[in-house]
Amino acid sequence: MRAADLADDLTTVLATEEEILAKLDEIAAQVADDYKGKDLVLVGVLKGAIMVMADFSRALPLLAPMDWMAVSSYGTGTRSSGVVQIRKDLDTDIHDKHVLIVEDIIDSGLTLSWLLENFAARGAASVEVFALFRKPEAAKVKVDCRYVGFDIPNEFVVGYGLDYAERYRNLRDVAVLAPHVYS
Ligand code: 5GP
Ligand code: MG
Ligand code: MG
Repeated sequence: MRAADLADDLTTVLATEEEILAKLDEIAAQVADDYKGKDLVLVGVLKGAIMVMADFSRALPLLAPMDWMAVSSYGTGTRSSGVVQIRKDLDTDIHDKHVLIVEDIIDSGLTLSWLLENFAARGAASVEVFALFRKPEAAKVKVDCRYVGFDIPNEFVVGYGLDYAERYRNLRDVAVLAPHVYS
């Protein structure tokens, strides 16, 4: 995609790569402190969390194992369906482990509240959430999110792992997708 076309697809930049990395450093220091001496497992939610996981795990001064889960609640659209389906389950047993779910964004909260229940049922010692972005105005269910990077307006955003129809994930910054792209 040419730079000129791309500029046409995006409106406001909500977080630059530099701002995101600075925030990840801050949260990683806090997580390292909170989980000192504990058996921590990072669980990334595919595919949106790939960039957050890559940068956050390297900012973390702990040797925490990483696992992945793939769930779908969106299809290719821009609205959560609320129906969560497991597309790829964890490879590891999280029984008695302290799980930190690493998420790109909390929108309705439906995906995460489902994941929290699912992980609790597997006997995790604790389950907490780190979401890089959160849209407080879009919440349909309350999710107890221990670590939040940025609260953002209720608009559809892309970049830094976040896609629209599998595109825009590789953008370094996070920006609002121009409505003409999906309407
Ligand atoms: P929720 O269940 O909280 O509504 O959101 C589920 C998932 O939908 C998020 O983890 C994320 O992958 C995707 N999602 C939610 N809001 C946005 C958004 O503004 N942009 C993009 N690209 N994906 C989003
Ligand atoms: Mg996600
Ligand atoms: Mg998506």
